[in-house]
Amino acid sequence: MAKIIDGKAISLAVKDEIKAKTAELQAKGITATLAVILVGEDPASQVYVKNKKKACEYCGIRSLSYELPADTSEEKLLELIGELNDREDVNGILVQLPLPKGMDEDKVLDAISPDKDVDGFHPVNVGKLSIGKKGFVSCTPAGVIQLLKRSGIEISGKECVVVGRSNIVGKPMSMLLLKENGTVTVCHSRTRDLREVTGRADILVVAIGKPKFIDASYVKDGAVVIDVGIHRGEDGKLCGDVDYASVEPIASAITPVPGGVGPMTIAMLMYNCLSSVCED
Ligand code: NDP
Repeated sequence: MAKIIDGKAISLAVKDEIKAKTAELQAKGITATLAVILVGEDPASQVYVKNKKKACEYCGIRSLSYELPADTSEEKLLELIGELNDREDVNGILVQLPLPKGMDEDKVLDAISPDKDVDGFHPVNVGKLSIGKKGFVSCTPAGVIQLLKRSGIEISGKECVVVGRSNIVGKPMSMLLLKENGTVTVCHSRTRDLREVTGRADILVVAIGKPKFIDASYVKDGAVVIDVGIHRGEDGKLCGDVDYASVEPIASAITPVPGGVGPMTIAMLMYNCLSSVCED
């Protein structure tokens, strides 16, 4: 039976550490401020933004909210980002994705100052990650590293396989595992024999975007399995990219969905907000 990696508990521990640190900073007159921009009324995005604001409140981070109508022009949005870039009292800027159709997402994200890019999506921060320099790191893969470390799972020297090569999960995930001295293989839709590659993994991170795709036939006995996927099934229940019922009996450790990687993403966003005002 696998050890269940409790993302809810670990994310709470991370947020409590941040809360203690922000209290210390506040005593010195320093407050971290995150500006959150939401364009349009996408219900899922509204929930994400609400949860981010709630986490800010819990952690002692000030949040400023900019809710713009769906027909906002790209120019207006860029203007707002420019103003927030210039404001000394704003340390982090987050534009909730996806943006309404017709907006150039890359152009908008590139307009955020790399020093305030708490999502870690700006090419400067992506570049820093790839050459091992300090910068903001994409929150979901950063959260996976925390889950592994805080569960006492050694990464150094391990065969790490990442399924998925997206810019926000798969690619930064592979860079972070490499930084931790894992031996990293990245798989994608053109990988020839996925089972053969995933079957080698000591640590398997799955970010494929397909419900319950990875079953026990893809997993080595005793592997650590991290499921990044989130899907809502027709029954209304959440599930991941991993078929939990099939994989859990053979894994040595596994993240559940919900309650695994998901809660870590917001916790690491809070961590990035904190590091926007303090070095350590
Ligand atoms: P993307 O759709 O951007 O990327 C999916 C990746 O999986 C692609 O690289 C694709 O390959 C690869 N892939 C697709 N089909 C196969 C296949 N049959 N065999 C091998 N590889 C395949 O997804 P994201 O990275 O954005 O997200 C992945 C999952 O994580 C989703 O379920 C998403 O909801 C979830 N997610 C969860 C977060 C959280 O906070 N927990 C945050 C972000 C995402 P190719 O590049 O060749 O197309």
